[in-house]
Amino acid sequence: MTSLLERIRRPEYTGSNRCWPCTITNGALVAVAATALALIRRRRLAAAVGIAGIASIGLRGYVVPYTPRFAPQLAAVLSLDPHDADEPGSLSGVPGSDEAGGDDAVSGEAVLAALVEADVVVPDGEELRLEPAFRSAWRDEMRSLRDDDLEALARLADRHTAPETDVWVGSSFGRSYLVLQGEGGGIVTLRREIAVAELGAARALESRVDDPAIRRAAGRPLRSLLETCPLCEESLEITQATCCGEVTPIGSLPSEKLYCPDCNVRLFTFDRER
Ligand SMILES: [Zn+2]
Repeated sequence: MTSLLERIRRPEYTGSNRCWPCTITNGALVAVAATALALIRRRRLAAAVGIAGIASIGLRGYVVPYTPRFAPQLAAVLSLDPHDADEPGSLSGVPGSDEAGGDDAVSGEAVLAALVEADVVVPDGEELRLEPAFRSAWRDEMRSLRDDDLEALARLADRHTAPETDVWVGSSFGRSYLVLQGEGGGIVTLRREIAVAELGAARALESRVDDPAIRRAAGRPLRSLLETCPLCEESLEITQATCCGEVTPIGSLPSEKLYCPDCNVRLFTFDRER
């Protein structure tokens, strides 16, 4: 039995590698098939289809062949799930804002220079590391924010974003997140773990960096230096698993992601060149 289960099981699409767009899409398809059979009074077959479908999604991550390729695109087209974009939305990604490429765009070099000058990050050979005093100040801020509800985080995000940016709480598929809308109407969504990490960083930077645009833009690069999860403080892992549907060009490796296995959240996606 074990070996049969092992043969059916697809670890690359389940556990921490599970793709939620695939799971949701397949769950819906199984439900539709089982309901259709039940309606034409094939109840036993309907029950069998339902049970086999759910078992397959549980063990393999999907039931319909090729879902790993089409589901994420489908989810993206239908805007079903803003949580599985390649790289999580960021405070610095509000369309039309200075950081996202407006006339007064803050360059990556300017952010890095400001962070080094403020003793927030320390160059260490080819790498950067967080200065320990800043790391602990940032952790304290994340601790104080992680029990806040999203409405409180939205108010805080409103204070820390550009004046023309609107912030509210949105939700889909039972999951809530912050929505940030820039001047031109473009939006970016911020998941809870990203909001806690970046708003915590913005607050920890307040006494160290004067320019609010730099404090906002710093959140995303600083996230790549997180060692523990903003929500549970467990150690983060780096995974290179390809989420189903993530398109990896032939000959290149899937991108590495900073990931909390306990919360099943992704904190950062490293560039593919790395
Ligand atoms: Zn966690």
